[in-house]
Amino acid sequence: MTVNEQHFPYLPERLIRLGDLAYNLWFSWHSRSIRLFQFIDYKLWEDVKHNPVRLLHEIDPQRMDEVAGNDRFLKRYDKVIDLFDQYMIRKKTWFQYHYSDKKDALIAYFSMEFGLHESLPIYSGGLGILAGDHLKSASDLGLPLIGVGLLYREAYFTQYLSMHGNQQSIYLYNDYSSMPITPVLEENGDPLIVEVAIEDRPIALRVWKARIGRVPLYLLDTDFPENHSDDRDILKRLYVGNRDLRLVQEILLGVGGVRALRAMKYDPTTWHMNEGHCSLSSVERIREMIQEKTPWEKALKTTRKSTLFTTHTPIRAGNEVFAADRVAHFLQSMQTNGGISIQSINSLAQDEHNPDANAFNMTILSLKTSDHANGVSQLHGQISRQMWHSLWPQLPPDKVPIGAITNGIHTRTWMTSEMKNLLDKTLGIDWRYHLMQKDFWEKIEQLPDAQLWKTRQILRRRLRNDIRCRLIAQRERNGETPEAIQEAQQLLNRNALTIGFARRFAPYKRATLLLRNRDWLKAILNKSGMPVQLIFAGKSHPENQPGKTLIKDIYTESRNPDFAGKVLFVEDYDMAFARRLVSGVDVWLNTPRRPMEASGTSGMKAAANGALNCSILDGWWREAYDGKNGWAVGEEREYYNEWEQDEADSHSLYQMLENEIIPLFFQRDENDVPAEWLKRVKRSMKMIIPVFNTDRMVKDYMEQYYIKTI
Ligand SMILES: *Cc1c(COP(=O)(O)O)cnc(C)c1O
Repeated sequence: MTVNEQHFPYLPERLIRLGDLAYNLWFSWHSRSIRLFQFIDYKLWEDVKHNPVRLLHEIDPQRMDEVAGNDRFLKRYDKVIDLFDQYMIRKKTWFQYHYSDKKDALIAYFSMEFGLHESLPIYSGGLGILAGDHLKSASDLGLPLIGVGLLYREAYFTQYLSMHGNQQSIYLYNDYSSMPITPVLEENGDPLIVEVAIEDRPIALRVWKARIGRVPLYLLDTDFPENHSDDRDILKRLYVGNRDLRLVQEILLGVGGVRALRAMKYDPTTWHMNEGHCSLSSVERIREMIQEKTPWEKALKTTRKSTLFTTHTPIRAGNEVFAADRVAHFLQSMQTNGGISIQSINSLAQDEHNPDANAFNMTILSLKTSDHANGVSQLHGQISRQMWHSLWPQLPPDKVPIGAITNGIHTRTWMTSEMKNLLDKTLGIDWRYHLMQKDFWEKIEQLPDAQLWKTRQILRRRLRNDIRCRLIAQRERNGETPEAIQEAQQLLNRNALTIGFARRFAPYKRATLLLRNRDWLKAILNKSGMPVQLIFAGKSHPENQPGKTLIKDIYTESRNPDFAGKVLFVEDYDMAFARRLVSGVDVWLNTPRRPMEASGTSGMKAAANGALNCSILDGWWREAYDGKNGWAVGEEREYYNEWEQDEADSHSLYQMLENEIIPLFFQRDENDVPAEWLKRVKRSMKMIIPVFNTDRMVKDYMEQYYIKTI
């Protein structure tokens, strides 16, 4: 467990355990632990993007000696190490309590991306963050679970906007030696390497380990000298546009992932595929059995019984399809030594009732190789059953075996320390262990209004200060005029109703819905005595031109005198800025084109921090909204066309802002506290926190699916 201290240039003996902390993402959801690193060097902590491994690499040795002699620091250090050790060895976990007889259970969780923390930038957006939060809760609940993913040589891009609002993408190099990961070694000390043949060429994969509390995450990488220089670049980037390259990446994840687990002597009882990217893991498992002379039917059946597939895509066209001849080409070596025939593999990825001989559909492959499947909200489950009905033509649509488990968030990651402190005072520190008990959260009603409001004000002001710094840096970088830079120092009103919208810029998310009727928006933003400001953030995939155009449209409005200072776009949305934004806004806006948002999670993060949701009744919000804990935009119905739907939804949104949200926020008592607003906030917190979190979600996965496989 102990990470070798030789990783660091200088770590005083008294502080030797900082190495263990730095190499375990546990630090990222424990505010005390983060404060420890901040104490060492606050500025450096910011400069190294909250990466403790880099901090310990780059810290001045003199400073290290200084803190090693600081009693206040040492007291905190001892406390954090004690908490960490207790966490790591704790026997009385939820899993132990409920499943102590399941000694052999082992769940392998595969995902193309994992969003754990900004110090491990191998994620793009919601799918990865969900996977990261899944691992964190699995660790908290004591589940025997291991993650499997890919290690990318470049971080999913850093976003800059040019002076004219064009998105620039910069791919920063991931220096593995200063990330919180360590190579997995063989007994003799050599790095563990597994091989997967692509075409007929073997590709070597190194295996790395990240520690997420008690859960290991294994990451595969190709960038080392054993590989041909072209092959070293296969895993350069996440979500490459080149189809062949993407397919090869998914082969490495699925086939390589299984081989890596075997090489480490893991024998999972349960295989969980997070989205279709990893479903070639099933093919590899079938191949293993066939090579051992198991008949095809039995190999398929055995694989299916132990596999769970989670789908995230509510439109059929959004599901990943490769050209079958390319799959056959790259996977030819799977046939050798009595392996699995290409025809058999291909048949698993085809819908016989809608034949398309050259379409190798990864979602169909996933569904056909798993007995267990689910969507990520109740509505999404229903949509998925309709969408894949053709695979089960003999069943009525509602009997299609795709269930639903609604997504959640890892509350301890997404709630700010200010809100945690407030809850500690009112609910007691053990609220952390009651994230699945709704009645416990009734106590939220006891939060004193004045303190809750004060916390909200602090969070909003901190967001304002942060955005100002970012905008100043952006304008300086773009060589803007001194006036424009000075203006950035004054932007944003610390008392204004602050509305946030941030996520990937996929067109169905309709980031510009609020800009549809400019005059109406202008009137709403300019009511005297009722200041309102809108903050946007998010990246567009670099090859998605419509997404980039939306960003440019928002940026252009933000520089238009009609909206200057009231509509802002903040660059480079990542987990660090997401934590700031979801906690600092008063209203979190989500306007997907229904029913295309499978679940959505950022609104849950906002609610955990006392912001109110204003959202289309899609995904999770359809389940959470009760009429009084936020606002619903538009209606639950279908439209003839997108224009009609956008028109109706934007109308509904403007009216709601004008007639309900803004007046309520500015309705103040004699102490300038918005009592009615806070009533909604409390209702939202007590209803959303104990349901829409990953402890509840992982518990559901355990009880509804994992248990059936062990
Ligand atoms: C939570 C989060 C997302 C996902 O947001 P959705 O509301 O699910 O679209 C994307 N990016 C970042 C950085 C996040 O923190």
